[in-house]
Amino acid sequence: MSSYTVINPADESEVSTVELVDAQATDEAVTRAVAAQKSWARVSPADKGTLLRRFAEAVDGDLENLATTEMRNSGHPITQARWEAGHVRDVLNYYAAAPERLFGRQIPVAGGLDVTFHEPIGVVGVITPWNFPMTIAAWGFAPALAAGNAVLLKPAEWTPLTSIRLGELALEAGLPEGLFQVLPGHGSIVGERFVTNPGVRKVVFTGSTVVGKRIMAGCADQVKRVTLELGGKSANIVFADADLEKAAAAAPYGVFENAGQDCCARSRILVERSAYERFMELLEPAVAAVRVGDPGDEGTEMGPLVSAEHHTAVSAYVPDDSQVAFRGTAPEGPGYWFAPTVLVPSSRTDRVVTDEIFGPVVAVLPFDDEEDALTLANATVFGLSGSIWTRDVGRAIRVARSVDAGNLSVNSHSSVRYSTPFGGFKQSGLGRELGPDAPLSFTETKNVFLAVE
Ligand code: NAP
Ligand code: MG
Repeated sequence: MSSYTVINPADESEVSTVELVDAQATDEAVTRAVAAQKSWARVSPADKGTLLRRFAEAVDGDLENLATTEMRNSGHPITQARWEAGHVRDVLNYYAAAPERLFGRQIPVAGGLDVTFHEPIGVVGVITPWNFPMTIAAWGFAPALAAGNAVLLKPAEWTPLTSIRLGELALEAGLPEGLFQVLPGHGSIVGERFVTNPGVRKVVFTGSTVVGKRIMAGCADQVKRVTLELGGKSANIVFADADLEKAAAAAPYGVFENAGQDCCARSRILVERSAYERFMELLEPAVAAVRVGDPGDEGTEMGPLVSAEHHTAVSAYVPDDSQVAFRGTAPEGPGYWFAPTVLVPSSRTDRVVTDEIFGPVVAVLPFDDEEDALTLANATVFGLSGSIWTRDVGRAIRVARSVDAGNLSVNSHSSVRYSTPFGGFKQSGLGRELGPDAPLSFTETKNVFLAVE
């Protein structure tokens, strides 16, 4: 059995060593999950809800430990890691109400009664990335369990610790053995078995577009259900009539949160030409003010990048001759630090404008008018999120309706709430997570006709 040593990205110290699951152990987990799911499906809706609420309570009771663990494993600032653990609790509580609300329909037909049922799919494999390990896992496992499925969770190799802890908490809360299993391992081994093992009936994947395409193609072989949450290159569109002070003050937090390792990062700032100079004057102090440093410090807003390998990948986008407008600060010494960086590329097709960098690097581009803003915003294969800053309500609505992306915000950068749907257009994904309908995507609709004559 191979293992992986987790490194703290803030100081490069060793955190712990995790044993990795192999293909055979994955298959055995699938077999246990198939059995556990059959029993779970027979648990009453109210009892399912009670167990999910107990799971939420267990997460709440362990919140500080989960947050500290995420901080050490992923380098997230402690205040943000606490928010993430709290979010897992909230997602569980929200979907704890779902088992009793999985309503079917009664459809008027001749000669009988016609009703629909939302049956569980069976075993669901959830594959998560390293950027938000706990929260993204919960978006999959909470609604899937609520809808009567068993869940196998494969965390990213770099960030397994909080997922492993969540698996323990589920058992402590009384969830049946085998119903929710966490399987740390290689994507090419454990993740791949989720795709190929016929016992897994749905794969929920969050990660890169390249791996997502491969998973979708693999799932086709068994017509396996799939949800994909993939990359992004979202636009933050600032019109000249906006509250420029507010837009500039908020812009760094729309892209540099989690050191830019956020699929929703507004990594392209598009500014109406007439306001461009003023906006840049306002943006510079806002970027300088981002507090980058020790994740354990309560005042820290941005930590390090997740790994040395990722630091190299991000750095490759900012060679010495880059068109840098200005930079924020970052600590020296050990750790995978990268200062917030604002680029002003001269071409709209520069790779810093088109590629998802997944680090604290933003490209600012001017536009001429509303039509030009939309052309530029939509000139990407991605379509996950975006922001629009304007005081013109009509324009806000027109632009929000015309940007080809799943999650837009006006005069803010908010995008994730557990009670509202989340997901991407175009190559940013397939399907939606969160919101009131998420449990339905973990069910099959069954239609039953009962003759009355
Ligand atoms: P990744 O390389 O695609 O990995 C994601 C997960 O897939 C990891 O658990 C990985 O395991 C696993 N994996 C790798 N190869 C696999 C295979 N052949 N079969 C099955 N699973 C496989 O992505 P990442 O580098 O971790 O994350 C960054 C990307 O995720 C970015 O593009 C970002 O935009 C995207 N993302 C999207 C969202 C969203 O909601 N739309 C949210 C967060 C992140 P290993 O760790 O073992 O390689
Ligand atoms: Mg990867």
